Amino acid sequence: MKRIVVVAVLLAAFEPGFHSFAGEPSASKPHVFSMTCKVTSCNGALSTPEGRAKALDWFRRNHISKLWLESYRHGEHVATERLVEERDAFRREGFEVCGCITPTSLNAPTEASKKHKFSITCWSDPTARQNMRAIVARTAKIFDTVILDDFLFSGCGDSCARCKADKGARKIEDWGAYRRALLYEVCERDILPIAREANPKAHFIIKYPCWYQGYRNRGYEPVRQTALFGECWVGTETRDANPNPLQACWIIDWMNHVTGGHCGGGWYDALDSSPEKFVEQAYYTILGGAKESLVHCYDYLVADDPGVMYESSARSHACAAAFEKEIDNLQKLADFLQGTVRGPYWMTPQGVSVHIFRKDGKVWRARVNTTAKTVLQMPPYGRELREVTDSDTAWPK
Ligand SMILES: [Zn+2]
Repeated sequence: MKRIVVVAVLLAAFEPGFHSFAGEPSASKPHVFSMTCKVTSCNGALSTPEGRAKALDWFRRNHISKLWLESYRHGEHVATERLVEERDAFRREGFEVCGCITPTSLNAPTEASKKHKFSITCWSDPTARQNMRAIVARTAKIFDTVILDDFLFSGCGDSCARCKADKGARKIEDWGAYRRALLYEVCERDILPIAREANPKAHFIIKYPCWYQGYRNRGYEPVRQTALFGECWVGTETRDANPNPLQACWIIDWMNHVTGGHCGGGWYDALDSSPEKFVEQAYYTILGGAKESLVHCYDYLVADDPGVMYESSARSHACAAAFEKEIDNLQKLADFLQGTVRGPYWMTPQGVSVHIFRKDGKVWRARVNTTAKTVLQMPPYGRELREVTDSDTAWPK
């Protein structure tokens, strides 16, 4: 145990949220499993009653009770009448239905940008900001609640003459500071007032990517921006290559901590993920205390046409099959966590994470093997939840 504690202390210096929030109650409401449907499926698979019937069957079998229908992505729109029809059809079936906007490809197309499937928006361009306002207004009239996929950042630098001139005019030296000022302005002027003008009940949510190390340099500011929006979400898409898979757990905790509890949920996808790692993201999103797990997206996981995707959809369909197998266990874990007091959690050197909870006067321990080996008496990628005695745990005194 001493060794684990030492490792925990060392890791605590690098991982926000590690060990910091022990003693906090878990969510008091039932956990929600939701799913995004991109423009591709909204314009395709979900646009007919037959396609929706197939989707409904999958959603119901996999405990999905809430949908986020996308109005815009990569230069492609879903017509208002079609979105309204789909929204109402799913609501009649008892689903909660919200909106989604992916703010990419908002500048006028150029010869260079036409060679790519989409482009990161240059936000110093008045045309892009006007396009964003139009999309926000139209979407806010269809949905009260809308989430913004995590492309609300700037990829511009010295090679962008327009941003360089704007940065000079604002007398800002540092690119990170410039991008933060620019994106805050976009949120404050081109998103929130436009949404509220279109729909006084509009509630827009900013979603942050998993790459927290790059937030400040790319224009993301969770504390200030979440204060503006009222709610944020965070990506738990750690995928195959992340050497620190427990991030999918602690980033929820960390985001809740820095935003005063305003992180609405965790979002993960099937990109660059083996089925085992995809399911691991699902477990960690729940173990991190998310109120809601959002699976992105119907297009990748279930539909025949995944839309823009740079890998084989056979792999994401395999992720869906793994999810189908695990959903009952994921639901059981989420149900169990309701009403617990969350204790510390840590990653052992063997790659098994340990999570401590207290419930009804008893101490419970969840473990997740993140490796393809049998370690600490756990099978490859195994998971367990069992009651333990206090002496087995590192519950803080
Ligand atoms: Zn630019």
